[in-house]
Amino acid sequence: MTLDKLLPGQSARITQVGGEGSLRQHFLDMGVIPGAEITLVKLAPMKDPMEFRIHGYELTLRVSDASHIEAQIIGKSEKTDTKVKKKAIDHPGLGEDGKYHDPKNENPLPEGTKLKFALVGNQNSGKTTLFNQLTGSNQHVGNFPGVTVDRKDGVLRGYPNAVVTDLPGIYSMSPYSSEEIVSRDFVLKERPHCIINIVDVTSIDRSLYLTMQLLELGIPTVVALNMMDEMTGNGGSVDINSMEAMLGVPVVPISAAKNQGVDELVKHAIHIAMYQECPLKQDFCGSDDNGGAVHRCIHAVIHLIEDHASEAGIPVRFAASKIIGGDHLILDQLRLDQNELELLDHIVIQMEKERGLDRSASIADMRYAYIRTVTATCVKKPRESGEHIRSQKLDKVLTGRFTAIPMFILIMGAVFFLTFFVIGPFLQDLLASGIGALHTLVVRAMEAGNVNPAVVSLVSEGIFEGVGSVLSFLPIIVTMFLFLSLLEDSGYIARVAFVMDKMLRKIGLSGRSIVPMLIGFGCTVPAVMSTRTLPSERDRKMTILLTPFMSCTAKLPIYSFFVAFFFPKAGWLVITALYLIGICIGILVALVFKKTLFKGEAVPFVMELPNYRMPQAKNVMQLMWDKTKDFIHRAFSVILLATIIVWFLKSFDFHFNLVADSHSSILAAIAGLLVPVMRPIGLGDWRLITSLVSGFLAKEGVVSMIGMLFRTEGGIHTVITPLVASSMLVFSLLYTPCVAAVASIRREMGRKWALGVVLWQCSVAWLCALIVRLIGLAFGMV
Ligand code: GDP
Ligand code: MG
Repeated sequence: MTLDKLLPGQSARITQVGGEGSLRQHFLDMGVIPGAEITLVKLAPMKDPMEFRIHGYELTLRVSDASHIEAQIIGKSEKTDTKVKKKAIDHPGLGEDGKYHDPKNENPLPEGTKLKFALVGNQNSGKTTLFNQLTGSNQHVGNFPGVTVDRKDGVLRGYPNAVVTDLPGIYSMSPYSSEEIVSRDFVLKERPHCIINIVDVTSIDRSLYLTMQLLELGIPTVVALNMMDEMTGNGGSVDINSMEAMLGVPVVPISAAKNQGVDELVKHAIHIAMYQECPLKQDFCGSDDNGGAVHRCIHAVIHLIEDHASEAGIPVRFAASKIIGGDHLILDQLRLDQNELELLDHIVIQMEKERGLDRSASIADMRYAYIRTVTATCVKKPRESGEHIRSQKLDKVLTGRFTAIPMFILIMGAVFFLTFFVIGPFLQDLLASGIGALHTLVVRAMEAGNVNPAVVSLVSEGIFEGVGSVLSFLPIIVTMFLFLSLLEDSGYIARVAFVMDKMLRKIGLSGRSIVPMLIGFGCTVPAVMSTRTLPSERDRKMTILLTPFMSCTAKLPIYSFFVAFFFPKAGWLVITALYLIGICIGILVALVFKKTLFKGEAVPFVMELPNYRMPQAKNVMQLMWDKTKDFIHRAFSVILLATIIVWFLKSFDFHFNLVADSHSSILAAIAGLLVPVMRPIGLGDWRLITSLVSGFLAKEGVVSMIGMLFRTEGGIHTVITPLVASSMLVFSLLYTPCVAAVASIRREMGRKWALGVVLWQCSVAWLCALIVRLIGLAFGMV
């Protein structure tokens, strides 16, 4: 039978893993290998995806993917007993005491070498927590060239010569997502002096799978066993000494969250980096494992490719196991000649025949076989942890069949309410009064000093009002990120993706895109920034392009203004309709994208559902600080420039004289150029166009501009009719995102895409406004 036929609670032993290519490799890397025991926990509320338990952790698979995996039902979950009876003993000291360090042959790096450390581990293993402990506040965020994945560098606290890099969370060194390629390339090409491999001890089997591959690289490595507090708290223990002996590298038990063992970890890391002590063991294939076929195959290939690997600068053992597993990227780099390629094929085919498993499965199985020996010897598994029981209870409600979606709406509703109506406005008022006071002060000082009125106008209207209005978003963005990082760190976001996956697949996205879309209703800027967490470039781009359709809060003033004037009786109806129009157009656009620009499937939904954990105040603060810095940086670069340009256009005429009436300004002249374009949709008045143009800076600007340009209420009613107002509303809903949003799109996708978004959104808005106008005319609206 296949896994999709399993009933909740039923357990099965995997017999065969189907599928192909990198998806199949990903299954294997996540521990879905022949012989592994797997239990169906539950189905998502919409019956897809499925949640399984395997190797002691929760994994999601879509029904269609699960149908590629063959398994045999087993009665009761079979418990494997571990031999460890010993209590945990103190961890041995540093390498000086003789274990890895051979004083006779020691070869320290020259004094003053800048040591590079790489922090590598699974997602949710505690990397960020450890990174923050290691670096304190000495860090900066940068981007990997080409791929926009956050890379964080930080100076190790107390060691000014040592830099730690936090790499994206990965499960394997096979290139499955762009993040995995980033991490793999970093380790292979930038050659850190030492890898700090962080292992989540509560799902140690899966975590050690990555360790096995890292050790093959032959780079000095320390293993940090994280979450030891949960492990020991639930009666588990690890025999650190035997684990060190079996892995051949220092193993340090730590709790990153409680800052336990971190000092010792640092000492070990510095020591082995300084003396370049490589792992003692790389040979994890047993000659007695299933007849030793895999072992013989690996060693044969090692001999075969030794010269090519050293030429290509790839550790030979790593290269061998990768090309046996079918990794083409590595194979290409090795440049084997025809004879060697054929030899390689023969060796691999022979191994497949003897082992009875195909190439990738047999390599994955070899690694897991060794891991089983390690955990059987060294790890006393805890009883079911309190954290897991608590998670399951929470999940009964949060992902339950009937409660999941109501809870989701409730939680998101609360987040939005608090952000936009309670905390955000409070902080906004505070900030605004601060900026306001500064504004008055500066303007007074300048007037007292008889500064040129043009300069006063630039500082006052350009800088303070322009940048100030953008800065006023800062509190909302920071508050929004506070809540989101709380939800993310606690493990809830992974559940939302699980619950929503089926719905989003219909429009060509996966469950993970739901978060940016939701944030989009608040503000497009943080929404675009939050797409970083999406695993595939295709999904990421598509999500970024869809977020502007979620009507952001800055447009609310526009809606309320026009509604109050023209549709006072149907206010809520009109506003709700606008939101719905935005969503519907978004869905339509997504469907079009799916058929054209972004063909292909959304990423498979193979994801870990971590236990719910208490978020770390430190991580959350760090993240908020990062976002704040990021935003302020942008406010004072791109946005400041744009503001100054618009201010200039608005205040001067073509003879560069300061104008008294904006009618004669350059901006009005430019708006005049747009009249022919805007007339068909009923927005041909230059004042409407000017206010829409200034709305590009910040959407609230539309209303203040209209107020300024029309002056009297009568004036508004002569130009704007309900029909014009309808077009105006729909156009404002859909036209180009504001400059802050475009700047963040540019940062994520590049200049071309950002420009494309502006043009594309304007066209869509134009078309929709036209349709609305035609419908209005057909119904005899004026
Ligand atoms: P990352 O995804 O690898 O960066 O992991 P994070 O640092 O974001 O940690 C994931 C979750 O595990 C967070 O909720 C942390 O608070 C929690 N966590 C990290 N280290 C520990 C630890 O040592 N013990 C416990 N109990 N929780 C931890
Ligand atoms: Mg993290």
